[in-house]
Amino acid sequence: MPTSFFTATGKFHRGNLHTHSTQSDGALDPEEVCRRYQAEGYDFIALTDHFVGQFNYPITDTTACRNEEFTTILGAELHTGAMENGNLWHLVAVGLPTGFTPPHAPYLKPVEGAEPAADLAQRARDAGAFVVIVHPHWSGMTETDARTITAAHAIEAYTHGCAIDNDRGEGFVTLEHLLNEGRHLNLIATDDAHFNTPDHFGGWVMVKALENTPEALLSALKEGRFYSSLGPEIHDIRITKRAVEVDCSPVDTIIIQGQGSATVTLHGEEMTTGRLSRHRLTNSPWIRITIIDRAGKRAWSNPIWFDR
Ligand SMILES: [Zn+2]
Ligand SMILES: [Zn+2]
Repeated sequence: MPTSFFTATGKFHRGNLHTHSTQSDGALDPEEVCRRYQAEGYDFIALTDHFVGQFNYPITDTTACRNEEFTTILGAELHTGAMENGNLWHLVAVGLPTGFTPPHAPYLKPVEGAEPAADLAQRARDAGAFVVIVHPHWSGMTETDARTITAAHAIEAYTHGCAIDNDRGEGFVTLEHLLNEGRHLNLIATDDAHFNTPDHFGGWVMVKALENTPEALLSALKEGRFYSSLGPEIHDIRITKRAVEVDCSPVDTIIIQGQGSATVTLHGEEMTTGRLSRHRLTNSPWIRITIIDRAGKRAWSNPIWFDR
């Protein structure tokens, strides 16, 4: 079952997959960014500085910030050319090797003759990275834009920095349009923290892995063994022929979303388990689960696909 990782051996590790430092336009140096995330209770982060010429195409080296309790995955935010609205492409690549060949992206503005974003994403994936279409709402990305990135593993469905700074933090509309077209994409919540504003410690992933190492975490990310959260915890999801059962930290709402307009919702108070009928979702090739606590904080499963 695609949700069996919840109860499999191993631990959930809390991480932020989209972060900036003074190696690009962030306010804090890499060591201080890592120190703050570890102090806040995170198990790992990926520093993903802007991979453009004006910052010398950084793949920021955070290996010195690793210790017994905390690790880092190398990565970068990739840029190239223009989307349909003329704005620069942004893609996050987590697990990018240090020798990755830069695209022609001299600064944070699109230039003529740039590598197509789909090609850049494919190169990053082929090089071993977990590739993410980031902040589609903030970017003003169209579905046509998003559809071209066939190498993406996931869409950034919640970007805390964008939510805090301009109320454009969501990516669920883009995600669900692509799911409805049959694209198997996962979702992540991140901070996209720059530490110039209260843009940090707001959205994260919980990755199930046997050990807190970059290799184990990266494999789990690529295989979808994680969920995303702004606070609540998902402990287990069990899918039977007729129902979906969810175990979680106390929440007031449990929702199953499916193809098109299909949803099922359970309201309650401080629920730590819930059973929702699948009958309205029997024609849906995919479902995903959202839980919402009393403070309005959410957690989201990845989409779960059914063989038909
Ligand atoms: Zn960006
Ligand atoms: Zn960013």
